[in-house]
Amino acid sequence: MDLRELNEKLALYESEKKALEQRVEELTDFFENASVPLHWVDNNGTIIWANQAELDSLGYTKEEYIGSPINAFHADNAIINDILTRLKNRETLIDYPARLTCKDGSIKHVLINSNILEKNGEFIHTRCFTRDITELKKEEQRKEKLLVSLEQSEARFRMAMEAIKLGTWDFNPGTGELIWSEECKKIYGLPPGVPIDFDLFVDHIHPEDKDYALKEIEKAMDPAGEGSYDITYRILHYGDRAECWIRAQGKVYFNSEKQVERFIGTVVDIHDSKIAEEKSAKLAAIVESSDDAIISKTLEGIITSWNESAERMFGYTADEIIGQSILKLIPEERQQEEPLILSRLKKGERVEHFETQRVTKYKKLLDISLTISPIKDSTGKIIGVSKIARDISDKKTEEMRKNDFIAMVSHELKTPLTSIKSYVQVLLAKAKKENDSFRIERLTRTDIQVKKMVTMIGDFLSLAKIEEGTIKLNKTLFNLKLLIDEIIFDGQFLTSIHTIEIKNCDVNVYADKDKIGQVLINLLSNAIKYSPSGGTVIIGCEKNNGKVKVNVSDEGVGINLKNHTRLFDRFYRVENEQVKTVSGFGVGLYLVSEILRYHDSEIEVESHEGQGSNFSFNLSIA
Ligand code: ADP
Repeated sequence: MDLRELNEKLALYESEKKALEQRVEELTDFFENASVPLHWVDNNGTIIWANQAELDSLGYTKEEYIGSPINAFHADNAIINDILTRLKNRETLIDYPARLTCKDGSIKHVLINSNILEKNGEFIHTRCFTRDITELKKEEQRKEKLLVSLEQSEARFRMAMEAIKLGTWDFNPGTGELIWSEECKKIYGLPPGVPIDFDLFVDHIHPEDKDYALKEIEKAMDPAGEGSYDITYRILHYGDRAECWIRAQGKVYFNSEKQVERFIGTVVDIHDSKIAEEKSAKLAAIVESSDDAIISKTLEGIITSWNESAERMFGYTADEIIGQSILKLIPEERQQEEPLILSRLKKGERVEHFETQRVTKYKKLLDISLTISPIKDSTGKIIGVSKIARDISDKKTEEMRKNDFIAMVSHELKTPLTSIKSYVQVLLAKAKKENDSFRIERLTRTDIQVKKMVTMIGDFLSLAKIEEGTIKLNKTLFNLKLLIDEIIFDGQFLTSIHTIEIKNCDVNVYADKDKIGQVLINLLSNAIKYSPSGGTVIIGCEKNNGKVKVNVSDEGVGINLKNHTRLFDRFYRVENEQVKTVSGFGVGLYLVSEILRYHDSEIEVESHEGQGSNFSFNLSIA
């Protein structure tokens, strides 16, 4: 080889060396600055090289990382040990998942791809590529969580649907397929196995609601419209075609060509609530149009409803009075009525035709008749009170005028009658002296009739006094037997077909003698009047616990049970054939019960039609 040849070779060598150096430089750069984290680990598990991407991804400096054992950077010891063992066994790891610890303490999820460089069978170092999948992993965990919560909310949704008995349906107009949920089928009363299609659905809409329902559905499917509907209408049950109110909601999904792709919705049976609603609407209308004031209130006396008549009667509007206390309507001196009424209601009683006074917004006193009933919830617990108030002011004034008239007439009649009575008695005494049997007989009868008239007028005067509330008791000590004897001796009741017996009445009582006399005369005269075929009338007394119970019993026509409660009402007379011919005004028993009420006593009756009667009352023994 000559020099020239040598020089050429040298130059070639030089340029090849340069090219090689350049290549090494490029490769080194490639590894050092590649965007994939790379490192080498030696036979002892020590990191001997790592590129910048690896350092950057974990946040360590070269000095902290290189020269340290690899397992110091793994979160799971078992994993790195397994990786190293596998590599030593000459395995190639592909996408081996591991967790690395960053300098800031955070954890990175990575996939490791690695094998080893060996020379002459000797482990030189690993070639390790790490791919950061932390974000991917986080995304996966988020998805998993979402999936779980989706499942939970679906389960909750299904439970809620079952609880409120919500049926669902799904209609595909393209294929004509219609799917109903189990609940939906239940609402329609559809037995299993019956195929469902749109025609079946249409056939089970109530004829009167069909146009409306179908029009709403059509509107919802119109691409220019709302795309949904929410209506209530009636369906007919499958089979018996019984009417049932439902609420149906639907939503339409259009495709990009504005064609209906899916139509889904819900139905719920609202029959019971709809019927209840209709009923309460009817009731509300009745309440509003009533002439009586209808008011409801809580047990604490707070007004909760107020109809138009209440407004007319008391002057307050519903807005003004609802939420206020009922005491606003009660005059000062009657405020104790409220707790009394409430205690009766709490016992489950109704208070009927309770006559009292109430005061209007303009402080005017009204005479009213109250009917009060408890309002109960479904368990029977009393939760409020309803009051019906009727204005009886006009009736009261009219009554007062009538009373005044009766009192005046009775008073005017009393004076001439007293004179007649004394003249008759003078004449009777004279006839007896002269032994004129004809005159004795006629004058005795006149005397009895006059006494009857005096008693009657006495009753009317007492009635007027009771009505005015001006009756006064004049209590004295007297013997009951002597009073009864006197009444019988008076002779008004003497008939040939009745026998009167007095039993055990020798007892002293402390009461108003005249008024108890009035009670006894009324009971005795009734016992005789209502025993047209005669019999025995017994006035019997029973002493018990400081009281004497006086019974007046007869063997007359008796009284049907259904009349018992009204017997003591003013002007009440039983209407039947036997009683029709007996004269009377229906005042006697009312007076009896009122006089006894003033004596803190009560009249009681035991009687059956055709089996005689027994009237009784108690008086305190003196
Ligand atoms: P009157 O006798 O004037 O009709 P009362 O007030 O005394 O009025 O009695 C009311 C009604 O009670 C009577 O109309 C009668 O039908 C009935 N009644 C009262 N007492 C008796 C009796 N002893 N037997 C049967 N019915 C009676």
